[in-house]
Amino acid sequence: TWQDVPLAPPDSIFKLTAAYKADTYPQKVNLGVGAYRDDDSKPWVLPVIKKATKILLNDPDLDHEYLPITGLPEFTAAAAKLILGSDSPAIVESRAVSVQTISGTGANHLGALFLSKFYHWDGPKQIYLSDPTWANHHAIFKNVGIEPLTYPYYDPKTIALDFSGFVGTLESAAPRSVFLLHACAHNPTGVDPTPDQWKQIADVVIAKNHYVFFDCAYQGFASGDLNKDAWAVRYFVEKNVPLLVCQSFAKNAGLYGERVGALHVVPPTKDAADRVKSQLSVLQRSEISNPPSHGARLVALILTGSDLFEEWNRDIKTMAGRIIAMRKELYRLLTEEFHTPGTWEHIINQIGMFSYTGINPDQAKALIDKAHIYLLSSGRISMAGLNSKNVRYFAENLDKAVRG
Ligand code: PMP
Repeated sequence: TWQDVPLAPPDSIFKLTAAYKADTYPQKVNLGVGAYRDDDSKPWVLPVIKKATKILLNDPDLDHEYLPITGLPEFTAAAAKLILGSDSPAIVESRAVSVQTISGTGANHLGALFLSKFYHWDGPKQIYLSDPTWANHHAIFKNVGIEPLTYPYYDPKTIALDFSGFVGTLESAAPRSVFLLHACAHNPTGVDPTPDQWKQIADVVIAKNHYVFFDCAYQGFASGDLNKDAWAVRYFVEKNVPLLVCQSFAKNAGLYGERVGALHVVPPTKDAADRVKSQLSVLQRSEISNPPSHGARLVALILTGSDLFEEWNRDIKTMAGRIIAMRKELYRLLTEEFHTPGTWEHIINQIGMFSYTGINPDQAKALIDKAHIYLLSSGRISMAGLNSKNVRYFAENLDKAVRG
């Protein structure tokens, strides 16, 4: 038994982290990490999370009973309002179906499983993913028998959105195709459509009757403003685009390991919503029985307490603000101090935690080998890995790598 199991390759990001950890060079830099770090390269427990944890632990009635199959009701209701907006027609008309999931990954999985079983597939089960996308998307859809296809997204020549390629695929795809869209702060490129481009995307999606699978892992992280980062999702809901949204609180609440997330499906009627919810419950039951309680309780406290909510907004601004400041400083160093060949506007135009620097795999390898700066071979860096102490070292070595 198991003699013929093929050996799987290690996950590339986890492999990079292991190499970084094993490196003893004092000035080493980890730009692979997909988690926020403070200016001392340390994980940051949000002050509002510390406060909410204290409140939770002081509650004498706190127990460890099972949550309902679809999760903590206070959490799912508040999470739906956070992403859809409290005056969303989907919420006002009681047709948003919200299920608590194992963070964003679990939301993607449950959404994929639900589509695989219940979407009215006209042909083969397929989903269009952006090229490139979060690598796990491919695995998640394959796991439930949905074949991933890709739509053009990032243009290496312009280091920006390939908008005409993107819209071209929306137009040429069979009607009622399923498209996965990153709601904000696209991973891995940091390149988002503008509001005007989102409107054009919605027009084509509506004309072709496509289904939108929104993945929203970075609400608040992109701009520092929770509402602004939810704009595309809310616009599509307003336009009655058939859709679902995967929501993660890993990044914006710094609750990575607590696995707090939700899947929101928005059917056209309350009757359909009731039926969708019943089937999601059946699926969830067979997969995890019921979701974990601790992180959901923390987020529910934050979302429903006005002081805590305001404090959370400030914490989000702290994180987003530091990342934006690093983008500006890196841009300044490359353009004004080192006069690095090439254009670098994309560093400040891109949004969220990640940036596609535009460097090639050889240059990325040179940064690892010569400067102990760890990044993906695609040239993707996590801006959260930069801080006031290492940004100059990074810019200097990026400059050297670009000059060859
Ligand atoms: N979607 C995207 C696009 C992501 O970048 C991530 C986090 N890397 C996730 C989903 C899910 O993350 P988590 O399961 O930690 O919420």
